[in-house]
Amino acid sequence: MKKKRDVSSYEGDDLAHYEALIKCMEDIKSKMSNAADALNASEVANVAAATHIADISSDAAGRDLKLRSLTENSRELKLIDEALERLARGEYGRCQSCGEMIPEGRLRIRPHAVYCVKCKTQIEKEQKG
Ligand SMILES: [Zn+2]
Repeated sequence: MKKKRDVSSYEGDDLAHYEALIKCMEDIKSKMSNAADALNASEVANVAAATHIADISSDAAGRDLKLRSLTENSRELKLIDEALERLARGEYGRCQSCGEMIPEGRLRIRPHAVYCVKCKTQIEKEQKG
């Protein structure tokens, strides 16, 4: 069985990528716990304001949005996990579609990017089409 790579063995670019991924993960986790808190708070408010029909429907819309963003965030977390695994295998930063290296500038904005911009655009086009 392959031993999981120790964090202390990361250096240079790998270490920078590792730190960017961890930071991104923490950002998303804190966003998620804020959203979960807001969700509970708005549900409490919902019950309290049960006589104001208009308020309830706008609250419900806000709730949907928050649920959607929670789902979105947990998907992002999974992508970060996968990126960390690729980093451990020494495959980090490679587009999973065409195999080209993803430009450093793109990784800085989105450290858990799976595809280069070209493939991403292509995939999104296919999903829509
Ligand atoms: Zn690509």
